Parts: sequence; structure tokens; C-alpha cells
Amino acid sequence: MPAIQGSTAWISGAAQGIGLAVARELVAKGANVVMADLLDETKGQSLAADLCQLGAGTAVYDRVDVTDTASLHRSLVEKPQEAFGCCATIVVNNAGIVVNDDAGDAKIKSMMDVNMMAVMKGTQMAAEAIRSAGKKGVVINTASMGGLLPLPETQAYAASKWAVVGFSISCRPLKKSHGVRVNCVCPAMTQTPAVGTFFAKKFKEQDANHPLLKDQLLPEEVADAYIALIENDKLNSQAAAIMPQVSYLHN
Ligand code: NAD
Repeated sequence: MPAIQGSTAWISGAAQGIGLAVARELVAKGANVVMADLLDETKGQSLAADLCQLGAGTAVYDRVDVTDTASLHRSLVEKPQEAFGCCATIVVNNAGIVVNDDAGDAKIKSMMDVNMMAVMKGTQMAAEAIRSAGKKGVVINTASMGGLLPLPETQAYAASKWAVVGFSISCRPLKKSHGVRVNCVCPAMTQTPAVGTFFAKKFKEQDANHPLLKDQLLPEEVADAYIALIENDKLNSQAAAIMPQVSYLHN
């Protein structure tokens, strides 16, 4: 539970990187997916059309800024109904950004709004929608290995990701009250266009042979963790609090 085949899913940050890889796997397994992102509508629709070619499920694109609560609600709660006639029972709050610690208060706050507030609101909205529809579902939030371990290079980003872990593992009561299992994935360094590239550059500046650069993950490898969490009903937020995609811990 929930079976991916024929299910309705909503994913934020789905236009590239980890979110796109998760969307692709879900469509390949037969889900109908709303791909939510800031990317402009035309490019987003083209990405969704590419995924539809996979043949099993379908995808539609929805342009949304997850920090705008009304827009988030429209995208997460209304768009799946409109596109697929069903509420999303698989919700992946994945959109995230990173800024330097000296970026200034306004940019740090914007990062917190994306990485933390939108994840909390998205989880709560999903839980209400799923309960109201009389269904059961799963919410997977994207945290980071930097939400489990110190990340001195980007302290504010680390704070936002520790918040996602703390929030997600504290949502266990939603399983009983709303029929919604909440969990999070904590990826290590992953090769993606924005966040991954930011960290690769930062670590390379410190040391061209930095250990974190040696074993970067591909988005497809990280996506497997989401699929495993979605498919295994036993992995609730405290039975398996987090699913780290460990790379450098093994080095
Ligand atoms: P990415 O930056 O390439 O993709 C992030 C996507 O989120 C982009 O498509 C972007 O347009 C979208 N987005 C950003 N702000 C948004 C907003 N306000 N509303 C809607 N969409 C928005 O990188 P990624 O690495 O795939 O990032 C996905 C998640 O994984 C993030 O939460 C990130 O913090 C996390 N993460 C990444 C790494 C890594 O090394 N790449 C490691 C750990 C965690």
C-alpha cells in the first residue's frame, strides 16, 4: 500500500534532479503524476509529455511556487482532482533550494519558506485531502544527509533540513488520525542541476579531492529510496524514520 499502479501522485520540484527522477519512476510504474515546479508552463508541459511516452502512467505539469500557500493548496489538493479525478495519495514534498550563510536575512528566510514551511504545509494539506476522500496515503519529504549530520559549509541549509527530519518523524500520529504515513529521504551528494551543483562547487573550492566529491549519487539512485518507502507500508516514520542514501559514510 499504496499500489503505485493506477495511483495519483503529486511531486514538487519535479522539473529536474531528484524530483524528476521520482516522477519518472512513478509514471513508469503506472502512476498518474502531477509534476509541480516553478519552471515555466511550456517547458514543464514538454517534460510531462516526455514522461507520458514511458507508456505506463501519465503526467501533467503544474506551475506553482510552493511558498505561496494558496497556490500550493490549488496545486496539491485541486489539480490532482481536476487532472485525474482523484486526490493525490502519494505526495512528495521535494522542492528545495540552497543559499550561502552570508546571503542575508531575506534570502535565508526564502530558503526556510521553501525547504521547511512548504514541506510542513504540504504534508498537512495532503493529510487533510486524503482523510476527506476516505483514502489512505503516503507523504515523503526530501530532507538531506545534511539533516542528519553537521554541514558546516551551509549552516542555515542544514537547519532547514534537520527541521524536515524532525517534522517528518514527528508526524507518526497522522497514520492513525488520517491514514497517512509520513517519512523522509536524506540524500547524500547527488548530481543535480542546482542544489547538487552548488555543493559540488563548494566542496571543490575547499579541496579538489574532497571525499564528498568521490561518490556522488545519480538522481535515479536516490529515486529508488522514494519508491521503496512508498511501496513498503511497514516503513512508517518511526519504524524506519529515514532512508538515507548513504554514499560518503561508507568511504
Ligand atoms: P535541483 O535544485 O536541481 O531541483 C530542485 C527543483 O525544485 C527545481 O526544479 C526548482 O525549480 C524547484 N523549486 C525550487 N523552489 C521552488 C518553489 N518555490 N516552488 C516550486 N518548485 C521549486 O536539485 P535537487 O538536488 O534535485 O533538489 C531536490 C531536493 O533534494 C531539494 O529539497 C534538495 O535540498 C534536496 N537534496 C539535494 C541533494 C543534492 O546533493 N543534490 C542532497 C540532499 C538533499
